[in-house]
Amino acid sequence: TDPGRIRNFCIIAHIDHGKSTLADRMLQLTEVVDPRQMRAQYLDRMDIERERGITIKSQAVRMPWTVREGERTGEHAVLNMIDTPGHVDFTYEVSRSLAACEGAVLLVDAAQGIEAQTLANLYLALENDLHVIPVLNKIDLPAAQPEKYAEELAHLIGCQPEDCIRVSGKTGVGVPYLLDEIVRQFTPPVGEAESPARAMIFDSVYDVYRGVVTYVRVIDGRISARDRIKMMSTGAVHELLEIGVISPEMKKADALGVGEVGYLITGVKDVRQSRVGDTVTINSRPASQALGGYKDPKPMVYSGLYPIDGSDYPNLRDALDKLKLNDAALTYEPETSGALGFGFRCGFLGLLHLEIIRERLEREFNLDLISTAPNVVYRTIQEDGEEVVVTNPSEYPTSKIAEVYEPTVRATVLTPNDYVGAVMELCQGRRGSLLGMDYLSADRVELRYTLPLAEIIFDFFDQLKSRTKGYASLDYEPSGEQSSELVKVDILLHGEPVDAFSAIVHKDKAYNYGTTIAAKLRTLIPRQQFEVPIQAAIGSRVIARETIRAIRKDVLAKCYGGDISRKRKLLEKQKEGKKRMKMVGRVEVPQEAFIAALSSD
Ligand code: GDP
Ligand code: MG
Repeated sequence: TDPGRIRNFCIIAHIDHGKSTLADRMLQLTEVVDPRQMRAQYLDRMDIERERGITIKSQAVRMPWTVREGERTGEHAVLNMIDTPGHVDFTYEVSRSLAACEGAVLLVDAAQGIEAQTLANLYLALENDLHVIPVLNKIDLPAAQPEKYAEELAHLIGCQPEDCIRVSGKTGVGVPYLLDEIVRQFTPPVGEAESPARAMIFDSVYDVYRGVVTYVRVIDGRISARDRIKMMSTGAVHELLEIGVISPEMKKADALGVGEVGYLITGVKDVRQSRVGDTVTINSRPASQALGGYKDPKPMVYSGLYPIDGSDYPNLRDALDKLKLNDAALTYEPETSGALGFGFRCGFLGLLHLEIIRERLEREFNLDLISTAPNVVYRTIQEDGEEVVVTNPSEYPTSKIAEVYEPTVRATVLTPNDYVGAVMELCQGRRGSLLGMDYLSADRVELRYTLPLAEIIFDFFDQLKSRTKGYASLDYEPSGEQSSELVKVDILLHGEPVDAFSAIVHKDKAYNYGTTIAAKLRTLIPRQQFEVPIQAAIGSRVIARETIRAIRKDVLAKCYGGDISRKRKLLEKQKEGKKRMKMVGRVEVPQEAFIAALSSD
C-alpha cells in the first residue's frame, strides 16, 4: 500500500464516552464487518470485556474508506484504527497505541463534558505529537449539550467550537463526515521505504491455536512473508509462518510496508520471545538501530496469588507465563506463605488490573485462587544506611529502620462546583495535600492533590463517587515517593505471626487494622482444645487482642458406643478435614478461614 493513502489513528476518551460504539459504526460504514456478524462492541473480544462493558486490550483494525465529500471526494484511503482502553490502570496500553499513530480522535460525551481521563488522554496524545480531532459524541441524547461542551473542549484544545465534530456513535450520524476529516486532517505515515526494515511491536497475544501473535507497525522498509525476522533486543531469529492485516479478522498478506499495521506469526511458543516495545527487523538485511521502545510500565500494587489446591501450582505458573505476553505490566515471582503454601507475589498496575488478571486466571485457565490483601511498594533506609525494597509486608525489616518511603500519586479530580467541599474532605482524610484548583468552566472544578498511593488503591474511587453522587471523575499518575510514619502490623495466632495478614499501614490507622482483622479471625477459626489468643502487634507491642475459647472436640462422643461403621465414617471425615488444615504453631486452621478472612473485603 502506498503510505500516502494510509492514516493511522486511535480513539481516546474517558471511560463510557463511546469509543467502542463509535468503532462499531466505523466497522459498519467501511463494510469490513458483514452486517449479519455485527454486534455491539465488536472489538471487545474477551468475555470479561463484554460482561463488564469495558475495553481492556487495544485493538487494531484496517478499514478501506473512500472519501465522500469535500475536495478529496473519491480518494481511496486505508485507515488503521486502534481502539484503546479508558481505565486509569490501562494508561500504558493507551500510550503504546498512541506511539503507533499519527492522529487521535478525542471523544467527549456531549451529555457529560470533559472528565479526568479526557484530560489525561489528551495530554498523552500531545506528548506523542499526535494531531487531535475533537469530537462530541452521543448528540442523539436528549440531555446532550453540544454547544456548551464544544466551548469547553475548544477552550481546552485551543481551537474553535466549530472545529468540534458532532457525532452519534449509536445512530451513526456524523460518522461518515468524521471519517472524511480523518483522511483530510491526519498526516500519512512517513518512513524510509528503501531502508532495512524496522517494525515496532505494540502488542503480543498468546493464542492457543496459533501460538504467539505479534502486532506491529512498520516504520521503515518492508517485511514480507518469506523473510526471516530478527528481534533487535535479543538477536533471536525466527521463521515467519504468516504475516497479515486485521480487518477485523486476521487476513494473510504478502508483505507489510511503510506505515502499515498488521500481525506476524512465527510459531514461537515462548511468550517472552516477542516483547512489546521491541523492534523487529529482517535477518538478511538487519537495521542497525532499534526504534525507541516504550517505557516499561511499573507495577504499582502487589498481591500474593495462591492456588487453593496446592497441586495447581505449576498450572498457575504456566498461566501467568501466558498472560504475561498480553500484558507487559504483569510481574510475578514465586513466594511461600506459611498460611497459604506455594504461590506468586504479583505486581499490578492497580486494583482493576489485579481483579482482571485474577478473573482471567480463574476463567481461562480453570484455576481457583486466593489473593492476599494488596499493598504498594515500600522502601526503607536502615540505620546502617542499607536500603530495602519491600513488596511483601511480611518481609518488612524488623531491625532498626531510620526512614520509610511510600509511593505517591498526583491525582486530578474533576467535580461539579457543589461537591468541592466533599472532595476536599475525602482527600484530607486520606493524607492528601492540595496542589491546586482551577475552574474549567463556571461549574466544573479541577482539583489537584498529592496522595499516598496506598490511600487511593482501596476504596477511594468508590468513596469519591458516592460523595459526589457519581459526578466526580478521577485520574492519577505516579509522582514519586514520600517519607511517612508507617508501621508494620503483625497478626499473631497463639504467639505465631501469620504472614498473609501482615500489613504496612500509617501509624494512625494501625489500631483500626489490628482490631478489624483480629475480630474477623476470631469468628472464622474454629475452637481448639486449648485457648488461642489472637493478637495484633507492632513489633513486640500488642495493640489488639481477641481470644478463641477452648473446646474439647470429641467426634465420637455423639455415637454412644453402638454403630461401628458410623464411627469409622466419622473418623474418616475428620481425617479428610485435617488435610486442608494448616498448622500455625500448635493451632490448626482450616485454609478456608484464611481465605474468608482475606477475601471478605
Ligand atoms: P467506551 O467505554 O468509551 O468504549 O464506551 P462504549 O462504546 O462501551 O459506550 C458506553 C455506553 O454509552 C454504552 O452503553 C453505549 O451504548 C452508549 N453509547 C455510546 N455511544 C452512544 C451514542 O452515540 N448515543 C447514545 N445514546 N449512547 C451511546
Ligand atoms: Mg470500550
